[in-house]
Amino acid sequence: MAEECSGNCDSCGSSSDCSDTKKMMEQQNAQIRDNMSKIKYKIAVMSGKGGVGKSTVTVNLAATLNMMGYKVGVLDGDIHGPNIPQMLGVDQIQPMADENGIYSVSTPQGIKTMSIGYFLPDKNTPIIWRGPKASGAIRQFLSDVNWGELDFLLIDTPPGSGDIQITTLQAIPDIDGVVIVTTPEEVSVLDARKSVSAANTLEIPIIGIVENMGGFVCPECDKVIDIFGKGGGEKAAKELNVFFLGRIPLDIKARVASDRGVPMVTMDCKASEEFKKVVNTVLERIKKE
Ligand code: ADP
Repeated sequence: MAEECSGNCDSCGSSSDCSDTKKMMEQQNAQIRDNMSKIKYKIAVMSGKGGVGKSTVTVNLAATLNMMGYKVGVLDGDIHGPNIPQMLGVDQIQPMADENGIYSVSTPQGIKTMSIGYFLPDKNTPIIWRGPKASGAIRQFLSDVNWGELDFLLIDTPPGSGDIQITTLQAIPDIDGVVIVTTPEEVSVLDARKSVSAANTLEIPIIGIVENMGGFVCPECDKVIDIFGKGGGEKAAKELNVFFLGRIPLDIKARVASDRGVPMVTMDCKASEEFKKVVNTVLERIKKE
């Protein structure tokens, strides 16, 4: 992947001429606009911190929309933790590239994907890039990947609400909105507030907040036990004047499926039922906006 400059040499430390860099950025912006104009809806999935189920929500949104007959792509923007290929069961595939760009990797169901994970020699190799280089890779996925015509592009953004997240969101032209994922406990909700504030600052519509791991589905009796507390996501949504999209329980069946590269919504389990309700609400919300 080519290293990109943010156009601000103070921040990236680039030794290249700034005017050349700006020209390159403008060219790339035009390429991004052209590539993204073929996509009807662009939705970013954000979370204030890692491990709350942001990638799980992205993958299952994609799988549900795909099952509904929509053409869907997933851009794995989580450069430092690229799990999308494994979660969609396509981690053994190498993308192809030629002078027309990089070709997305398609799942057997037809979900198009791109991730830095495809370019790593093995799963243990860490990406130790600083922010501008990581943002540069995401911009390249937006400009150079041949996504074709899509109904939805879902962007799994890196966790947090700092420079790399802001650069990613700003790079997506006419973004339709963000879905913010949180878990119910106080510290996670606190981080989700920062995602809300980042989206508001960038004037990007917030589709809503999803509370993931809201309760644990007991494998013995199928009852939901609230190990992380209850209602944190809903309470935060109310306080922040953001729509509450729903609550997905922690479900062992869902985790086992995800580890095998099978999205939970393709299975019969409690988390899957709740997830499908969330997707319908997302669709109602974006069609209104
Ligand atoms: P993030 O993208 O926020 O870092 P992930 O989506 O990678 O988080 O989720 C972390 C782990 O939790 C994964 O192993 C995933 O399968 C599991 N997980 C996420 N949501 C659920 C859920 N509702 N039920 C069971 N396991 C889940």
